[in-house]
Amino acid sequence: MEKIWANSGDSHFLEPPDLWRQILPPSLAERMPRAEKVAEDEEVVHVDGESFRRKLPKIVTRKDADGLTISELGARPPGARDVKARMADLDHEGVWAEVVYSSLGLWSNYIKDQRLVREAAKAQNEWLVSELKSVAPDRLVPAAQMPLLSVDDAVVEVGHVADIGLHIISLPTGVAPGMPDWHRDDWEPLWAAAEEAGVVVGFHIGTDGGDPAVFRGPGGAVLNYVETTYGGQRVATKLVTSGALDRHPGLKLLISEGGASWVPFLGDRMNEGYRQHGMFVRPTLSRLPKEILYRQVYASFQHDESAPATCAVMGFDNVMWGSDYPHIEGTYGHTQKTLHELFDDQPETVRRRVTVGAFKELFPHVSDPPSA
Ligand code: MN
Repeated sequence: MEKIWANSGDSHFLEPPDLWRQILPPSLAERMPRAEKVAEDEEVVHVDGESFRRKLPKIVTRKDADGLTISELGARPPGARDVKARMADLDHEGVWAEVVYSSLGLWSNYIKDQRLVREAAKAQNEWLVSELKSVAPDRLVPAAQMPLLSVDDAVVEVGHVADIGLHIISLPTGVAPGMPDWHRDDWEPLWAAAEEAGVVVGFHIGTDGGDPAVFRGPGGAVLNYVETTYGGQRVATKLVTSGALDRHPGLKLLISEGGASWVPFLGDRMNEGYRQHGMFVRPTLSRLPKEILYRQVYASFQHDESAPATCAVMGFDNVMWGSDYPHIEGTYGHTQKTLHELFDDQPETVRRRVTVGAFKELFPHVSDPPSA
């Protein structure tokens, strides 16, 4: 079977548990998030003087239709925390370049101290360059952490991020408590700074904040899984309709892990609203919403069988594959099988665009995979 090499718009790294003690002064490090396992399936997370419990995912063991052990997929791959082992995993799976989101940053919305958030983001971004990017600068594209309790701090950090050679910033789909929502003009300086610095704005789904177990009872697991994707669609809609992307045509968004076939649907809905409710529409845009969405928003998926067709027949070119390594929602252990199922019946142009081309458009500095 021919190996299909693909870039990933959605990957993750697990930082060392003592990261904050390595990179921050002790007085700041002790206030940063720290997880403590209290039961087989439960941990307590301590953040800046507050603590809360959360359930850990259970590892299930069963065989899938191809005899693949599902528990193997649930276990953390060797390269989850070890960057050298990670490169071996990527080579084996056929993943070439990847956007790498941090794991610890997911807790940053729980910290209320503006200075602490600012110092931690700055130190973490420098660590991302020295520990991840420097290992394979033509393949690993770490997503920068951002201080988001102050627009001014975010603008300053965008400049810092660009100076140290990072190419994408990570923003949560939900703003920190008390901060203006993403469609508000308060954030205009951030969009201007990101466009000017040439950094991509990445929104990973499932970062709305709050309890991810929105639903309980019948269907809860899949309801919650689907629910996590809407935040990515909402934030893309906000940045189109508010005019942020229209005012900054060089600004590019990557919505990671949320699939891709929602983009044509939302483009149609936004155009309909823009036309049929035109008398209420503020601000007016220089281009139709769907055109802005299609030009400036990129969307990554792992398994979605309708995603390549979205690129092939719906005119939305910015469809990007993602491995979601090392998470259980991802393709680790079956990447080649998935890529063949997705692309064997597609034209070479579609496969090339979704696996390599869309990614290279956002990150032209990465090298080409071996077979390309
Ligand atoms: Mn992911």
